[in-house]
Amino acid sequence: MEKGIHASLNISAEVSVYLDNGSFGLLGTEDTVSRHEREILRKEYEEFVGKGKPDWCPIPQDFIPTPQMTPDRQRRCFLRTMRVNRDYSHDGYVPVVHVGQFLTRYLTAMQRHGTLSLKQSIAIGGIVPNLLRAPKAMPYVDILAGLKRVRDTFVDRKIHIFGVGGTATLHLAILLGMDSADSSGWRNRAARGLVQLPGTGDRMVADLGSWRGRALTKDELEALRACPCPACAQFGLDGLKARGMDGFCNRATHNLWVLLTEARDIESHLSDGSYALWHERHLDNSTYLPLIRLALDQHVSPLP
Ligand SMILES: [Zn+2]
Repeated sequence: MEKGIHASLNISAEVSVYLDNGSFGLLGTEDTVSRHEREILRKEYEEFVGKGKPDWCPIPQDFIPTPQMTPDRQRRCFLRTMRVNRDYSHDGYVPVVHVGQFLTRYLTAMQRHGTLSLKQSIAIGGIVPNLLRAPKAMPYVDILAGLKRVRDTFVDRKIHIFGVGGTATLHLAILLGMDSADSSGWRNRAARGLVQLPGTGDRMVADLGSWRGRALTKDELEALRACPCPACAQFGLDGLKARGMDGFCNRATHNLWVLLTEARDIESHLSDGSYALWHERHLDNSTYLPLIRLALDQHVSPLP
């Protein structure tokens, strides 16, 4: 807070820093954390934003509904989040809406509010509890339809989507016209010994005990050996397999690099019209492939 986020993390000015508000960590505590405590958390967040100066930040707290909650509890999440959206409709705070039962009401409430209706950026949350395939989770096609509705409602605004960080879900986010996305999945996977690979699911490289994942095929092993990411270029496959902090850092670097490269590849194949052919070859048999085809049918290329 003394130096600001860019200077203290040694991030160059042309790199945008997006701040998250930590609400996912408070999920389900909306009735146990008191109003007073929440007020303190908000003030601290405001102070941090004021002094840390991120380039992008959401409202201090949103109340994430999960499919398991009763409709009444989900309604309370909606009302509370909208209250914070209204309280922080000033000063560059990005309002948050959630996919789920209340999306229509969110969109109506946003459009009817003077300042909120003019916001240039908006964030969508509530995806992760639905992607976890828990009982009562929304069908994927409904999530997709929800995202498309937000895009269609706020045509020329910047839309950020929380919790999208798998290789396949990244395709969906870009096809649906989302402007930015974030996830800590690449880091969580790294901590469990998992690496991400272009166009395919997670693979286990370091056996860290409690977690299991699909092992690498021979071809995937070859692909990893040739990986040009900063971690593999320096430390090779052994670096990815290492235990402790070094292994974690190498896998995290590799995973993030794979995601950023994937995003760039998607964009370039969309812009030169080769996406339809490319993605069928590139993505292996994923649960998401039918959804990607669906999103591609509805995809409208952004203006150059
Ligand atoms: Zn790598």
